[in-house]
Amino acid sequence: VATASHAYNVLFGHSFLREAFESLADITRTADRIFVLTDENVWKAQGDTFTAAFPLPFEVYVLPGGEACKSFDQYNACQTFLLQQRATRKSLIIAFGGGAVGDLSGFVAATFMRGIPFIQVPTTILAHDSAVGGKTAINHPLGKNMIGAFYQPQAVVYDIAFLKTLPEQEIRSGMTEVIKHALISDEAWLNELMSRSIYDYSDDELSHHLQKGTQVKANIVAEDETEQSVRKYLNLGHTYGHAIEAASGYGNLSHGESVMIGLIYCLLLSEQYGGVTREQTMSVYRYAQSQRYPFDAVAKFDFETLLSYMQKDKKAEYGELQFVLLSKIGEPYVQKVDVAQCQEVDVLLRQLIA
Ligand code: NAD
Ligand code: ZN
Repeated sequence: VATASHAYNVLFGHSFLREAFESLADITRTADRIFVLTDENVWKAQGDTFTAAFPLPFEVYVLPGGEACKSFDQYNACQTFLLQQRATRKSLIIAFGGGAVGDLSGFVAATFMRGIPFIQVPTTILAHDSAVGGKTAINHPLGKNMIGAFYQPQAVVYDIAFLKTLPEQEIRSGMTEVIKHALISDEAWLNELMSRSIYDYSDDELSHHLQKGTQVKANIVAEDETEQSVRKYLNLGHTYGHAIEAASGYGNLSHGESVMIGLIYCLLLSEQYGGVTREQTMSVYRYAQSQRYPFDAVAKFDFETLLSYMQKDKKAEYGELQFVLLSKIGEPYVQKVDVAQCQEVDVLLRQLIA
């Protein structure tokens, strides 16, 4: 990943944690201490494997599971832990977990003593996306990801073996972002992804798809680190998806499950501008339906509720609704859309799902 601020590698492998960290000796050698931040679910499922394979001494801090770790309280608790442990500006943080641990740990690293190095060790499929690109954040009671920084890791070590204990809902959640990366980059790859169930990929196939997805993200981030232009394409499906996720109270639906609904919404909206065909929309929709994405969730919220969330999105510029659409599969662009048209497509989506 070559960003203007800093270049780093994403290493992929299977059960290769020791090897990977040995190859990162240039980074670990300069660290006086290593602090692993993780969450209770990850540590319970994969802590023993991590401890057995990690080649250097470390201290660990275990956070509450998932999104709960992205709070001011947990941020504060991590800083307290680091200070009590006498961490210094030369200490190294390892984020061992999914996107939640990665976002929190990155923000802790960005701000502890004005910034110390960190390495991402992702344990979810979704984290092929979140671990790359340098967006770090915690949540504010008034909004998700509202407090944060752009801060790139020193490296990302992606060990596919950690994914074995992922719950089914998290497989769905993460695979949405892979499918999103295919939708904005490569129709042949999209078809390859959809030729098999997301639950049935072999290790090699999954690794291949995650590498491709990471590369798409890395290329975009290299071109536009701070989201002035092409990085916006990564928001495909997220305007409507975030609204569903927020309306459901960040509870029953995972991020990617909500975004999958948003992707279908964007395909329908793209149809209105020409390019994407109904047949293409239907092939993605039918595939997602067969993979147990919970489309029935849409019926729980009316359009006005979703609209109010879409208008609060921090990517909404001057109150206008902005969507990433596709001029064809693989070719995204940004389009301002008026509320009446948003509502028409909302109706179309509801008809499709009914
Ligand atoms: P997550 O980190 O909450 O993990 C999902 C759940 O699975 C959690 O309960 C976690 O404890 C558990 N888990 C993680 N790995 C496991 C494993 N190997 N075995 C068993 N259980 C495991 O969720 P996520 O989907 O990885 O990430 C979502 C977060 O990422 C959100 O907070 C979102 O805002 C953020 N995000 C950030 C970016 C970015 O660019 N920084 C991009 C997308 C999403
Ligand atoms: Zn996302």
